[in-house]
Amino acid sequence: MPYLVRENLFIGNISDAAEVLQNGSSEITHILSVLSSVSISFFTEWRSGVVIPAKEIKKVCVGDGEDEWRSCLAANKVLYGLEYAGKDLKLVRMAVPIRDMESEDLLDYLDVCLDFIEKSRKEGAVLVHCFAGVSRSAAIITAYLMKTEQLSLEDALESLRRSCESVCPNDGFLEQLKMFEEMGFKVDHASPIYKRFRLKVLGEFYNRGEKIDSSKFGADPGVPTQISSEEEASPNEGKKAIPAYRCKKCRRVVALQENVVDHVPGEGETSFAWGKQKSGNPFNKSDESECSSLFVEPLKWMTGVEEGALEGKLSCAHCEARLGYFNWSGIQCSCGSWITPAFQLHKSRVDVSTV
Ligand SMILES: [Zn+2]
Ligand SMILES: [Zn+2]
Repeated sequence: MPYLVRENLFIGNISDAAEVLQNGSSEITHILSVLSSVSISFFTEWRSGVVIPAKEIKKVCVGDGEDEWRSCLAANKVLYGLEYAGKDLKLVRMAVPIRDMESEDLLDYLDVCLDFIEKSRKEGAVLVHCFAGVSRSAAIITAYLMKTEQLSLEDALESLRRSCESVCPNDGFLEQLKMFEEMGFKVDHASPIYKRFRLKVLGEFYNRGEKIDSSKFGADPGVPTQISSEEEASPNEGKKAIPAYRCKKCRRVVALQENVVDHVPGEGETSFAWGKQKSGNPFNKSDESECSSLFVEPLKWMTGVEEGALEGKLSCAHCEARLGYFNWSGIQCSCGSWITPAFQLHKSRVDVSTV
């Protein structure tokens, strides 16, 4: 039986979902399936004989529509599927492909899941389920409670445990939920917290031998981007001077402030652990001059990175001056911190100015 968490919000496992889909429910109108596959045939594979009718509404892939941000997820990967399902096609089912693994990217699915839960509760009642009803569904409902009730991770999880004792999101999900809290109950792609997370996920991709295509790299700030008509209409209005790093030799822009991935100086390997940055020494901010290097996300001008090497030089795309070094296994900054993976620019080789 599904457990009631809040009015019109239930948590359950795959057999709870199968029961509702096969026989209907007097209460539940919407289902959020968090399984390794979005296909309804997952239920048949789970238990032969279970056949659930479904009619697709839409399937949304990463990169459809809003391209403003670059998520950790590969372009064209299914973000979610939406369909009518179950007895008389009366239920609305959204399915997101998430595996119950510590390294799985949960953050990039939260927005769509939380929106679906909110909307479904207004129209009826929603069952959020995964396979066991312990880790994935619990992580998503915890995020939902955090956001809607402004609860810390600990308080939200404790509150959920009062409805369903057995919930236990895996450690990777807990770390990401902590980041969600630190980002202000949202997934802020401009936040240093998200950037560190993203870099770590890219590092894991690399270590697994997956090819990292340049869609995962930041735009080359040295190449002029297309000016939108809106910007053209008001060239100076609301435009702030953006700090930029230029090649000292030829003045080509090599990175913008937004490409920089901060680290806490002198904290060693732990400085890069998820959610740890707040525990640093409060005086560290002023110590930034200690670092002789700047660490950035991988950018499109870094051709050596794209070729798949483990490490190599980073040279200016215009004058070929040596600017720094990259290493997927990490580089130690002069302050002592290990940055993994690392895309390092020597401060002595770049100038700061604005664009
Ligand atoms: Zn440093
Ligand atoms: Zn140069």
